[in-house]
Amino acid sequence: MAEEDRLRTYRGKRDFERTREPSGRAARAEGGAPRFVVQIHDARRMHFDFRLQVGDVLRSWSVPKGPSGDPADKRLAVPTEDHPLEYEDFEGVIPKGEYGGGTVIVWDRGTYEPLSHDRRGRPVDFAESLERGHATFRLHGSKLHGEYALTRFRSGADGEDAWLLVRKGPARADGHGTPDPRRARSVRTGRTLAQVAADAGRR
Ligand code: MN
Repeated sequence: MAEEDRLRTYRGKRDFERTREPSGRAARAEGGAPRFVVQIHDARRMHFDFRLQVGDVLRSWSVPKGPSGDPADKRLAVPTEDHPLEYEDFEGVIPKGEYGGGTVIVWDRGTYEPLSHDRRGRPVDFAESLERGHATFRLHGSKLHGEYALTRFRSGADGEDAWLLVRKGPARADGHGTPDPRRARSVRTGRTLAQVAADAGRR
């Protein structure tokens, strides 16, 4: 699918006269390892947005509890519309009444290595593994490190799919549970959600 088509849903939900989110007209994929970003979004319901660069867009899942470093935790991840690559930098306040109204911080970001293999151990195209509903990858972030899997466990007739985001590998001493979103700090600016909201109010 062309990038323009992939972002049609994203653009259709937003009024770029009102929100400072990127319209996604500029960025194209650069060479090198694909990017990932995890944002914390204090919207109607607090959630984490987990995004993986696939080609020229960020494939996105809403993860209510956020990623866990503990392999025993299975985190619900609900797919949301593809976002433009520039979204990895977005931190700020989406105005009340607009789609996704609330405060966003960039909690973690970095690169990832696709690890998906078929049953015979041969590497599989990452986008294709997502289409099939099971993708594995290794994150290289500032906070998140190591192997994770995204697995679709329910395909809704209305497009309401549900996935699980799970840390792979043995339990480790540094495996952490749920990050506390209200205490968490932006990896980009060091601010909490409350500080970002306050700074936006002063502008
Ligand atoms: Mn969100």
